[in-house]
Amino acid sequence: MKSLREPDLELRGKLIRSLGSLREMLPGSFVERKRACGRPNCHCADGKRLHSQFQISVLIDGKPKALNIPADLAEKVRQKIEMRRRFDAVAATICNVNLKRFIKEKEERQV
Ligand SMILES: [Zn+2]
Repeated sequence: MKSLREPDLELRGKLIRSLGSLREMLPGSFVERKRACGRPNCHCADGKRLHSQFQISVLIDGKPKALNIPADLAEKVRQKIEMRRRFDAVAATICNVNLKRFIKEKEERQV
């Protein structure tokens, strides 16, 4: 039975519930590389209108890897990698809330 509102706990609950929408997150960073394909009569042969190659740059078993992303999946993958950033930000905020509560609890015991 609580009559006192606890904004921190409300925030924490809201953040925890928001994590479900990030379940498809991917690790690593999203990289776009420009490259020429090498075919002499392709538009990229002018060296300006290059092809975009999208990649995930990520550690796999501790080793850096670059995984190619099919162009039609690039936007989706970019969003999933962005989810990881939001997940980390949510986790950091929850940790701050909990740390503040811990410090307060400790102080209250030392009266
Ligand atoms: Zn080309």
